[in-house]
Amino acid sequence: MFDNLSDKLGGIFDGLKRRGALKESDVQAAMREVRMALLEADVALPVAKKFIADVTKEAVGQKVLKSVSPGQQVVKIVNDAMVEMLGSESQSISTASVPPVPILMVGLQGSGKTTSTGKIAKRLTEKENKKVLMASLDTRRPAAQEQLKILGEQIGVKTLPIITGQQPVEIARRAMDAAKLQGFDVVMLDTAGRLHVDADLMTEVRMVRDLVNPHETLLVADSLTGQDAVNVASEFDKQVNITGVVLTRMDGDGRGGAALSMRAVTGKPIKLVGTGEKMEALEEFHPERVASRILG
Ligand code: GDP
Repeated sequence: MFDNLSDKLGGIFDGLKRRGALKESDVQAAMREVRMALLEADVALPVAKKFIADVTKEAVGQKVLKSVSPGQQVVKIVNDAMVEMLGSESQSISTASVPPVPILMVGLQGSGKTTSTGKIAKRLTEKENKKVLMASLDTRRPAAQEQLKILGEQIGVKTLPIITGQQPVEIARRAMDAAKLQGFDVVMLDTAGRLHVDADLMTEVRMVRDLVNPHETLLVADSLTGQDAVNVASEFDKQVNITGVVLTRMDGDGRGGAALSMRAVTGKPIKLVGTGEKMEALEEFHPERVASRILG
């Protein structure tokens, strides 16, 4: 899995004797390769820099092990540090609260919010036996509410009846009221997105958040987002205090550097990963897999 980086690092450390400690100059040479791998994987520059600095500090002076080559040893240090940074523990969506439990889905337009709303609703229904109500608060994009309704019919999850002309906050209130009356366990609120983070979008999301006090606020983010991942994640976190990230399009050929960037700047866990357009294409987040993909 780490052949590329291992081979490169192996070369760098060829001259190093088996005994002794990892020298700063060797580690620095190795870190140039690691840095390249991070940037190729689209890890945001400040995150890559900090990661390299941390790992360098940890590696320099470490005793060279007898059992593995120094190159392999450094690859292991790098890999372990990355898994740690990505969040070594797997975290699932929490619904442990007084029903109906509100889950707010936020993110940019096209990030996969509506699709992920459907995927999570289906999973909660089928795997956790929850009674889920979905509601689209997207009053800007024509047919957005209709899109969620059709999705609900496909997966057998109820959606809030559409009343045209209602504002997002009114729809959210209606969803919570309906869920209380009809005994739903979870309410998934799919908010509107924009092409870029903007003040209007954030105000709207904050108003809904203040009304429903969500148990989870999940940022849906495209894993192919490059350097911008940091801005998107930190803005949403600052404005609406996200509780986790759903990373979509991990089935694409991106290397997933956005995962590291978003986790690093927000400290919030990546909870689930979208791996396709189908409603079943939702997986737990495995930090080891993403680490090996980033390191190449
Ligand atoms: P929204 O604007 O954020 O609600 O985005 P949508 O949910 O409408 O998704 C936009 C497009 O991305 C749709 O064509 C989805 O089928 C697609 N999509 C969403 N998640 C994934 C994913 O994990 N992998 C792939 N390949 N496509 C996805």
